[in-house]
Amino acid sequence: MAGTDSGTVRLYREDPSLATFTAKVLEVRELEEKSWVIVIDRTAFYPEGGGQPADEGRLGEAEVFDVQEEEGVIVHYADCPLEVSEEVEGSIDWERRWDIMQQHTGQHLLSGVLLDDFDAATRGFHMGAEESTIDLSRELGPQDLSLAQARANVLVDADLPVTSRVVDREDPAVKAARRPPPGVDEVRLVEIEGVDSVPCGGTHVPSTSRIGGIHILAGGSSKAHGLFRISFLCGTRLRRRLGRLDRLVTELSHMLTTSPDDFRERFEDFQEQNKDLKSEVTELRRALVPLRTEALLETAESIGPGRVVLARVDDLPPETLPAIASALTEHSDVVALLGAEVAGAGRLIFARGEGLDLDMGTLLSSAAAILGGGGGGAPHHASGGGPQGEALDAALTTVLEQVRSLLKEGA
Ligand SMILES: [Zn+2]
Repeated sequence: MAGTDSGTVRLYREDPSLATFTAKVLEVRELEEKSWVIVIDRTAFYPEGGGQPADEGRLGEAEVFDVQEEEGVIVHYADCPLEVSEEVEGSIDWERRWDIMQQHTGQHLLSGVLLDDFDAATRGFHMGAEESTIDLSRELGPQDLSLAQARANVLVDADLPVTSRVVDREDPAVKAARRPPPGVDEVRLVEIEGVDSVPCGGTHVPSTSRIGGIHILAGGSSKAHGLFRISFLCGTRLRRRLGRLDRLVTELSHMLTTSPDDFRERFEDFQEQNKDLKSEVTELRRALVPLRTEALLETAESIGPGRVVLARVDDLPPETLPAIASALTEHSDVVALLGAEVAGAGRLIFARGEGLDLDMGTLLSSAAAILGGGGGGAPHHASGGGPQGEALDAALTTVLEQVRSLLKEGA
């Protein structure tokens, strides 16, 4: 890009606390609708990289929504154009950047402690919108993680300086660093006094107390690709999370009318009550069987030598269907054609009394075929079904016609 041969001057490296600055516009290019590429001679905007997201903010009238580095040139993506050669004022969305610096510096401190005290090396780092993650070379139990967190927070309270310096790659300090340097002649080392030193191009808070506390999330650990991932929160995010959880716990406390310490016990009580209620409902439904059988008998259609009961019994538990069929066919002249829809599928039970000569197995397999399934059984009692519960009425109507003509023939 013209005029940027030596690359953009990175103000954020010299002074990570710089929130506003002035710069000269070198290049402006329209990318697509409402998106322009802007290059300036110097910038405090951090371009995405090293696990740290890009800064957002303003350049003059333009809103900067993304920043990337392209061959040493820092490219700002903005929502409106600027005049080439004009002097503009830049301002970083500072609340957002400070939050990022807290998470990033917290990661340095945590990675240093995890390596020194627990022999767990950091293999990856990702900063999410809510939580950040570190991928470790080995698995750690909850107790070790809790110890690491306690140690890291002691170092937060110690308010140790966080500094950066550029050294030659042959410098002994580079060899002692936590991670190997990138393939360049000069290395930027970020150091937490007495605790951690690592090559890094990102932005950091000036001392550990400004991290504002570190918390490793109890439910945030997982294993993937041979690495052990932990999730953590620092500073303002941590207080925000605490506020949200505190409101949630208070709400639950009111709903359950008990203190958080008794949540588990209260939940177990509810589970027990729920189990008791379920078995009570099942018992009550079973008690309905004789009443239902009587009611069904009254709907029977007399055909030739038999009485045909055709019904859908969707409202009773499916396991009560055989009992109803048996009770109905204690009457030697009754044919019971029962169906029920259970979780979208169709279930059928066909039975007949001893005084009739009908093959329920044959009738059932033709009806079950309409439901896209199958079934069978003895001549006096058969059961089955299929996945197409919506065809249940059609299946029952079809079998009723067959039974009608069979009974009329036999009459
Ligand atoms: Zn860093």
